[in-house]
Amino acid sequence: MPRLTHFIAGKPTSSDTNRLSDIYNPNTGKIQAQVGLGTVEDLNLAVAIAKAAQGEWAAMNPQRRARVLFEFKRLLERDMDTLAHLLSSEHGKVISDAKGDIQRGLEVVEFACGIPHLLKGEFTQGAGPGIDVFSMRQPLGVVAGITPFNFPAMIPMWMFAPALACGNAFILKPSERDPSVPLALAQLLLEAGLPAGVLNVVQGDKVVVDAILDHPDIKAVSFVGSSDIAQYVYGRGASMGKRMQCMGGAKNHGIILPDADLDQTVADIMGAAYGSAGERCMALPVVVAVGDKTAEALRPRLVAAAQGLRVGISTDADAHYGPVVTATHKARIESYIQMGIDEGAELVLDGRGFKLQGYEDGFFLGPSLFDHVNPEMKSYQEEIFGPVLQMIRSQTFEEAIGLASKHPYGNGVAIFTRNGDAAREFADQVEVGMVGINVPIPVPVAYHSFGGWKRSGFGDLNQYGMDGVRFYTRTKTVTQRWPKGGPIVDQSFIIPTLS
Ligand code: NAD
Repeated sequence: MPRLTHFIAGKPTSSDTNRLSDIYNPNTGKIQAQVGLGTVEDLNLAVAIAKAAQGEWAAMNPQRRARVLFEFKRLLERDMDTLAHLLSSEHGKVISDAKGDIQRGLEVVEFACGIPHLLKGEFTQGAGPGIDVFSMRQPLGVVAGITPFNFPAMIPMWMFAPALACGNAFILKPSERDPSVPLALAQLLLEAGLPAGVLNVVQGDKVVVDAILDHPDIKAVSFVGSSDIAQYVYGRGASMGKRMQCMGGAKNHGIILPDADLDQTVADIMGAAYGSAGERCMALPVVVAVGDKTAEALRPRLVAAAQGLRVGISTDADAHYGPVVTATHKARIESYIQMGIDEGAELVLDGRGFKLQGYEDGFFLGPSLFDHVNPEMKSYQEEIFGPVLQMIRSQTFEEAIGLASKHPYGNGVAIFTRNGDAAREFADQVEVGMVGINVPIPVPVAYHSFGGWKRSGFGDLNQYGMDGVRFYTRTKTVTQRWPKGGPIVDQSFIIPTLS
């Protein structure tokens, strides 16, 4: 059985651990590899190596660091097919979607290639007599990223691309469910010219996460995962004085106004609700139909479109989506479907019991659709993270905005309408971090930044874009005076002012 290792000091490094975690092929339901769950000692070793490597990396001029990332981008493009197959074999998302996962990370790498421009700092000449003031952005030192299973390529790149471009060394703790692609990325960075030890991968679970949070030499931690863990990681890391950025779960709403182009909207909702088997933090698992007429027109269209979806193995080029990641996750999704029924929602399509011929042990679920969901239901309040779409009927536009605004999660939201006034008011009023207007999955491009509100995000700075540069640097401000000579300037005993 293949066993995945850490990647420390530029080479695969095994651990003394006797704790192993199984990695499945979600298509077949079979264990295909194992990963050793790291120890505190493994993490300490990686941090010591990173700390030793960071000074020289930070001292390299920013353009040279960017050149490594340019080369890394080229290698990602060269290996796109291989990486996509590897990703899909552990995660279960279809190959085209796996390529999208890599591509969205690659776009952050492209952004990071331009980071030298953003590190320039500020300068004021003549802030006082003979006085100049300048600010510079300096790297933090060793920083860490802890990532979820659902984007094993994109999310590590959200983090390490800006962190490295800013001159930090990086410790990556990937999800134990699909750690192969993060390891492959570390290998490619080395091939691209990143000095050994500047990026290290430590495999593991809570033991390594806690060791990261407690380690005094790790200055900042970026986390993406479910909300309870995000909040815990945020609290523990912040109490250790670290800079923290912790993205959590989601329950994104799609609000459909009576004037929306329903055929286009339904096509958009299918991909957003069921794509990647619903395992996206920017999936759209809730539709809010505004007005009874809208709901009546929408429902048969949603049913027909969902029934037309093809669920297949992840290498099936015609499949709309593949299996979910593990049997445990599949059982959890099924339990939410049962909860929805028990709470009184109407299950219009039931994806449980779906079997794919020849892959009966795979972790497949057909598309499920609920109607008449109401906001008090626990199955609506909580994140399901599977191919389950819940429809709510609201009477007014205000009620629909209120639903998204009052929901405990606030990652993304989308409105479908032809009315510019309504869309503008919606974008202004809704209490959610990322808004789509006729765009079902409004993941911001790499030069903006990504982050949700409420239980979807703990910490002040978003992922990538300018916020990524702010997160991975700290500002130092220098006030300098170069006297020309002449009489001694009187020393003042009051706080210096310009008046
Ligand atoms: P998860 O919270 O189970 O795991 C995330 C990371 O935390 C993993 O590296 C895992 O090893 C670690 N971890 C798990 N349990 C831990 C514990 N008790 N203590 C410390 N660390 C622990 O999340 P997941 O199932 O891998 O990913 C899916 C979740 O991530 C969903 O909730 C999804 O919405 C969320 N997500 C959010 C975003 C975002 O940007 N907001 C993006 C992608 C995924």
